[in-house]
Amino acid sequence: MNIQSIKAFNDNYIWLISTNEGNLVIDPGESAPVLDFLTKNKIELTDILLTHHHYDHVGGVAELKKSITGKVIGPNNFNIEGIDQKVSEGTLVNSCGLNFRVIEIPGHTLDHIAYFSDDNKQPLLFCGDTLFSAGCGRVFEGTFQQMYESIMRIKSLPINTLIYCGHEYTLANLKFAHQVEPNNVDIKKHIEFCKKVLQNNQATLPSSLKLELKINPFLRCDDDKLRESISHKYDSSKSIDDSSVFEYLRKWKDSF
Ligand SMILES: [Zn+2]
Repeated sequence: MNIQSIKAFNDNYIWLISTNEGNLVIDPGESAPVLDFLTKNKIELTDILLTHHHYDHVGGVAELKKSITGKVIGPNNFNIEGIDQKVSEGTLVNSCGLNFRVIEIPGHTLDHIAYFSDDNKQPLLFCGDTLFSAGCGRVFEGTFQQMYESIMRIKSLPINTLIYCGHEYTLANLKFAHQVEPNNVDIKKHIEFCKKVLQNNQATLPSSLKLELKINPFLRCDDDKLRESISHKYDSSKSIDDSSVFEYLRKWKDSF
């Protein structure tokens, strides 16, 4: 199995998984870069998997669907055109010989799902715009509580899970994380690492849950240092619960 990123728009990643049985893409917001990649590599597309309805994740489906040999799999949302198999919490998806379990993670959008596979020693998670490296997606449609619970579900996955996100937002997220936790050495180190990676025109993804637990403040809303940082910024009581820490953090990031 091989997983590659195809760049789309300014900072989207379309993930392409190739196995002995075929090729699948996740969240093709644009068709052109995918078609280019398929032509250059002389491969055919089997399936398309979708995480949520935003245009920069589904915009390429109509064009790509003309030439796939399999099907389009996505959330149970009638506003997304072209889905052949609608999936929801717990659905087991088999694509190109890989098994994925669907996890519903509403918040960024209400239809947002993730695809989790533990076929291999190193589990894989494709989580669209819910968890980013060192950050998380904006809360557009759901509540902060829903988004917090979705992030906690991701946190409960095996620690060696590789995290494939929908955007290259890592460095900007790390700058915010550094502001929130100025003494976090792992964040400082990862800023330097990501700068080099990006200078070489490489992706900072996938990340891993193990790394994210160190550098992503949204996964550590139970951390007393973060709670203090929030209290300092918002002059709030130190007794706020973890989901309120999440809400403060997300609002802080929105205005950062
Ligand atoms: Zn989105």
